[in-house]
Amino acid sequence: MIYLDNAATTRTAPEVVEAMLPYFTEVYGNPGAIYSMGSAGKKAVSMARRAVASVIGAGQGEIYFTSGGTEADNWALKAAAEGCRDKGRHIITTKIEHPAVLRTCDYLEENGYQVTRLDVDRDGLVDPENLKAAIRPDTVLISVMFANNEIGVLEPVGEIGAIARERGILFHTDAVQAFGQVPIDVEEMKIDMLSASAHKLNGPKGVGMLYVRDGLKIGSFVHGGGQESKRRAGTENVPGIVGFGAAADRALRVMEENGRRERELRDYLIERIEAQIPWCRLNGHREKRLPGNVNFSFQFVEGESVLIMLDIKGICASGGSACTSGSREPSHVLSAIGLNSEEARGSLRFTLSAENTKEELDETVEALKDILDRLRGMSFSYISIR
Ligand code: PLP
Repeated sequence: MIYLDNAATTRTAPEVVEAMLPYFTEVYGNPGAIYSMGSAGKKAVSMARRAVASVIGAGQGEIYFTSGGTEADNWALKAAAEGCRDKGRHIITTKIEHPAVLRTCDYLEENGYQVTRLDVDRDGLVDPENLKAAIRPDTVLISVMFANNEIGVLEPVGEIGAIARERGILFHTDAVQAFGQVPIDVEEMKIDMLSASAHKLNGPKGVGMLYVRDGLKIGSFVHGGGQESKRRAGTENVPGIVGFGAAADRALRVMEENGRRERELRDYLIERIEAQIPWCRLNGHREKRLPGNVNFSFQFVEGESVLIMLDIKGICASGGSACTSGSREPSHVLSAIGLNSEEARGSLRFTLSAENTKEELDETVEALKDILDRLRGMSFSYISIR
């Protein structure tokens, strides 16, 4: 199998699994308990919090564990909007956010808030000048993703943070795809809230976090017990949190080297596809993109058919994002960068890890050539018969 779908999820690293195991079998006490097995779990959670915080230059008291990126996004947007209700009800986001942000904005809109969804350019970038122009006296929250999950584009988060801070507006960024992949500094980038998810950096699924800048008063999202400094109730997912901590430690250690390797593989795959496959177009900015992201539109084919045929050859890739696959609607991200629905439907995403090899990529390009020749041959003969 050739796995090229690391933006959907990653393989849990063996060292992460090893770190988690004792918290299922031996140290299973509730971290809220008084006895030593409970406090051992509590200590492990606290160490994981420190590890996760150091990936983004945060303090450990600023990290709140959640059930994943979706919950973190929901929490940030709903709690910030509610907390600022008396100040204003206008939110700014972009047209290319993950559904965890976009659907939450729809919900807020149905509940008395107004939302501006910024356009992006042909490469997927938000223009900070457009953001400035969209700010109103009643704007209370800006949410712009750090890196896009489909086309990998890296948004100008530092510039956006500076604008938001200067205008006294809260700034949230969904960094689920970027956390542990590229350097992030919440102080320097003036980020007030940031969402991340462990399973995108070789950690376990079902655990994530929301960074909330120290002193920022946002309400809790899940009500109940006093866990997570009374801000996120529910018995802690100790093995998951420990796994997130181990994945964060690992990410910090390998980020530079893996980033370099992924960039090299990414550029190799892009160059190979462009040299060997006609009628294709790279989606997303060529340089300002995640190290492992490759997204192409192939003319005259349905991406879904290509994916099925790649799967038969043992290659895992994706069309759009995992969360929207299965839907017949063209991707909202590809529509936002100006692709028509035919171009968007012919798009494929390959997301690499440092474990991939050039031989695997050569095999993928050969498979793609063969599949595209066959599918395009079929659609061309259909056109000439007609
Ligand atoms: N935000 C982005 C940009 C994502 O790519 C994803 C998952 O693909 C999420 C949020 C949701 O994260 P989770 O799967 O942890 O709920």
